Amino acid sequence: MERIPCTGCSLLCDDVLIGTDGIFIDKIYGACLKGKERFDQLAAKNRLTSPMIRKNGKLENVSWDVALERIKQILTDSSKPLLYGFSTSSCEAQLKGITLARKISGFIDSNSIICQGKALNVAKETGMTLTTLTEIINKTDLIILWGSNAAESIPRLLNKILFSRGKFRMTGREIKTIIIIDPVKTASFGVMQIRDVALHIEHGKDLELIRVLKEECCKEGNFPEKEVAGIDKEEFKRLLLNLVGAENGVIFVGQGILRTQSDDNVIRELLELVQIINARQEKGRMSLALLGGHYNMVGFEQVALSITGKNHSLQFSDNKLIETKDTIITKIEKDDFDSSIIVGTDPISHFPFSLSKNMASKPIICIDNRKSATSDIADVILPSAITGIECDGLAYRFDHVPIQLKKVLNPPSGVSTDEEILNQIIQKLDVS
Ligand code: SF4
Repeated sequence: MERIPCTGCSLLCDDVLIGTDGIFIDKIYGACLKGKERFDQLAAKNRLTSPMIRKNGKLENVSWDVALERIKQILTDSSKPLLYGFSTSSCEAQLKGITLARKISGFIDSNSIICQGKALNVAKETGMTLTTLTEIINKTDLIILWGSNAAESIPRLLNKILFSRGKFRMTGREIKTIIIIDPVKTASFGVMQIRDVALHIEHGKDLELIRVLKEECCKEGNFPEKEVAGIDKEEFKRLLLNLVGAENGVIFVGQGILRTQSDDNVIRELLELVQIINARQEKGRMSLALLGGHYNMVGFEQVALSITGKNHSLQFSDNKLIETKDTIITKIEKDDFDSSIIVGTDPISHFPFSLSKNMASKPIICIDNRKSATSDIADVILPSAITGIECDGLAYRFDHVPIQLKKVLNPPSGVSTDEEILNQIIQKLDVS
């Protein structure tokens, strides 16, 4: 048996065991269903294994040379290429992606821009109290899931943090309180016990709740007379007392806040709320953890920040990074692009129809290991290895801790890693 980090989600569980003969993986222990699906992708029906180009409206298998030649043609004819995705690639591949963007005067963004990147942007101005998984396991007595259905999106997270004792306690679940703030009764509500608090906030009222909490945190003993954001006064009181009374609390900020609310103020005021609580606390500490979905969304932020000083939305021109307020969304909305390179993601399925339609109207180069709506309409497809199983590399867990991924199998014949593919494109463009 061999221990291997799972790349099924941003928890990057490093306690999964597999049995392999070097050709197949025949035993998997410790992974959740989502993690097992990641391993199932090795032999899935939708696996991409051959380069393809579109001819007369149809995708046809071709050699790598022919596919790379077509990519060169597209990129040579393009003056405003977009590069997008990279959150299921290793940091090494992300670095190559940024190198390619610089070379072709492109705009590069990762999935993080519609997720936790928003919070990191705000944190540049306000600061942010973050924590790590280890600290949560060992010290936390209050866990708040805010707009996050952790039970389904990060399936083993609650097992690890809610039912563990931690290093410094003889007690476990019995002293831990979980509070879930969500307009929808998600699967995560299933873990709740008598001491826990389920708060069904009205949809889109997070900012209202945060503002009242900020006010109330500054007062002694007074609580609002009326319900707040759909939460009655008794529930509100329990929330507030837990927030200001926890020894070590963590707020998991999920997609419900990060993704659906375009207004940065929600995140800004949440960060301020945490600062107010920490200023008021004499012994305790409140921290945040940002829950992204894809396993290396944080990696892109780290790589981009370390080499450009900016964590995402990088616009290059003449080999230089230039100032821009654009994101992948505004670029597509404004039609400010003429081709796109999509790596390991499926924007055609995930973006609103108007954006997908715009993207579909320009040539698409798709680098991925699975078929998707994006690969279905792409002009060129390059099949990639599954990172974390068929190639190694570095990835960053949701709490910004680096985890080294392992290669345990070779990719199918003729299939390359994201890093190698991006490098081949760079080299192809160098050949005149
Ligand atoms: S929780 Fe995430 S990383 Fe852990 S086994 Fe499941 S899919 Fe893999």
